[in-house]
Amino acid sequence: MKCDPSLLRPAQPAVKSRLIRQLFLPPLIILLMVGLGSVGYMISESNGIRALSENGERQLELHARTVESEISKYTYLPSLLELEDSVSQLLADPDGGPRQAVNEYLEGLNRRSRSRAIYVLDTNGRVQATSNWRDPDSFLGEDLAFRAYFQDAVRGQPGRFYGIGSTTGEAGYYLAHGLEEHGRIIGVAVIKVRLDTLEERWQRARLEAFVSDENGIIILSSDPARRLKSVRPLTPQVKEDLARSLQYYWWPLNELHPLAREALGDGVEKLTFPASRDSGQDASHEVTYLAQTRRLADTPWHFTLLTPLQDLHRESMIQGILVGVAFALLAILGIAWNERRKVIATRLAAREALEEANSQLERRIAERTADLRASNERLKGQIRERRHAEQTLRHAQDELVQAGKLAAIGQMSTSIAHELNQPLAALRTLSGNTVRFLERGALDTASTNLRTMNDLIDRMGRITASLRSFARRGEDSGLASLDSAVEATLQVLANRIGACGLQLHRDFDDQALAIDQTRLEQILVNLIGNALDAMTAQAHPQLWLEGELAGDRYRLRVRDNGHGIDHEARKHLFEPFFTTKPGEHGLGLGLTLSASLAAAAKGALSVEHPAGGGTAFVLSLPLATPATDSADTP
Ligand code: ADP
Repeated sequence: MKCDPSLLRPAQPAVKSRLIRQLFLPPLIILLMVGLGSVGYMISESNGIRALSENGERQLELHARTVESEISKYTYLPSLLELEDSVSQLLADPDGGPRQAVNEYLEGLNRRSRSRAIYVLDTNGRVQATSNWRDPDSFLGEDLAFRAYFQDAVRGQPGRFYGIGSTTGEAGYYLAHGLEEHGRIIGVAVIKVRLDTLEERWQRARLEAFVSDENGIIILSSDPARRLKSVRPLTPQVKEDLARSLQYYWWPLNELHPLAREALGDGVEKLTFPASRDSGQDASHEVTYLAQTRRLADTPWHFTLLTPLQDLHRESMIQGILVGVAFALLAILGIAWNERRKVIATRLAAREALEEANSQLERRIAERTADLRASNERLKGQIRERRHAEQTLRHAQDELVQAGKLAAIGQMSTSIAHELNQPLAALRTLSGNTVRFLERGALDTASTNLRTMNDLIDRMGRITASLRSFARRGEDSGLASLDSAVEATLQVLANRIGACGLQLHRDFDDQALAIDQTRLEQILVNLIGNALDAMTAQAHPQLWLEGELAGDRYRLRVRDNGHGIDHEARKHLFEPFFTTKPGEHGLGLGLTLSASLAAAAKGALSVEHPAGGGTAFVLSLPLATPATDSADTP
């Protein structure tokens, strides 16, 4: 069966697309995995930052208020000195005023308020009285006119200042108030407080925060390393002002260089710093913070809360990885599902193709069966016709055989007549002679004549017997003795054989052949008769009868040294009515009949043309089997 070629067509484009898929899919999945992981990381981070900043907002508010309250709780204190007469007196008369009383008053007040120092300056900025009058590094008599808080306060504005003390070198928050009397500023009261407690509190609470002043310089910080560093670049003007005011004494005001800075919103940014040494982390390590800044009330300062983002980063990283891995799993599941779908689709397609091929096959088988049935019917018809034709032919052949026999009889009749005439003439003569011998009493001679006459009568009987057997219609099968058939043939042709002086060579065995005896004789009469015809011009006619076994057959070669057969005649030898013999000598049926008789007995008749001249006819006949023998022999 031929399969539909479309079903077996190689899927070239499918192979190509599969190759492309195999080449590009893994990198694409990895890219998407990394991309989605990054997106997951970023989303997680931004959500985390939002959550942290919301929480940080509350923390910022809480701690900023703490700072504000820490600062504001001292604001009223300098103004209290306005109420103290001794202070007014001292400022009115610095040389004769009650300095000692004021010193002691301030000392007591400082102790109670737990501030660092409280002191009073005249309008020239000179310290007239101070709570630390006992200390060797007392401010007493010091000129602090250069201090910004003094300058603000002497102008009637609240002096707020964070700086490093020029005497003690100690950082502190200065609050100054212009002391008024009768609407006139007579001096300035200053309280210095330390805000270190805030830093200590932050450190204890593990809070990272700092407070930066109006110039962006960090004045309070949970991390001492960041203290007195500016969070933004200082302009040369600011630097000069700071140097002049000695606000931070001679402290080098470096910039706090964050490794990265990213603004996330109003007052919210992301800052990355190198890890502090105190944190115990590797110096190369960096720490990123969410920095939330809020301005502190009543001051130009800003409070900044730093929330470390390491944990958030770690979580975001884990979530990013989870997203990437989830995507990879989904992609693998998708690919597996797709492959399975394709396998199922291929199987279905193959099944459909198989079913289609099957139905095609069945259709074709049905068509072929119908064809075969039709051709079978045709063949049966042809067989019937052939059988009919064969019967007709057989009938015709039988008729021909019969006709051939009759023709042969016709031909032979002359020679038989001649044959019979001779003995008859002899009989007539002998019988006449015998009568006369008897009359004379010559009994011996008469009896000799009678014996001769007897022989002649026997001979004549044999002649007529052979004629009868020749004319009888024979059977296709039978049992014949080769020797007897040759003898009978020679007997029939004895006259002609004797006339030409034939030299006969017999080289065959007596074989029992599966053919009717008469038919075999008929064939041999034809073959030997033809040989005698061909040798009429031959001075020494010779005939060879050579036999040989060939399997289950016996081949008898009838060879003569006659004139042979020319090339043109060879083509028509076995055709009916082909003859080269003149007039009524030849009918052209001898070979045709002989061949058909041989064929009817499942034998064959063929011709050979020996190189040495003459012609040889080879009669091949099946040997009679013992079964045939027993069947045919009663
Ligand atoms: P017929 O003998 O009546 O001619 P045959 O069929 O017996 O018919 O022979 C056909 C022809 O074959 C003969 O006319 C003859 O030319 C040729 N032929 C047959 N046998 C021989 C032979 N032994 N030698 C030469 N020619 C032969």
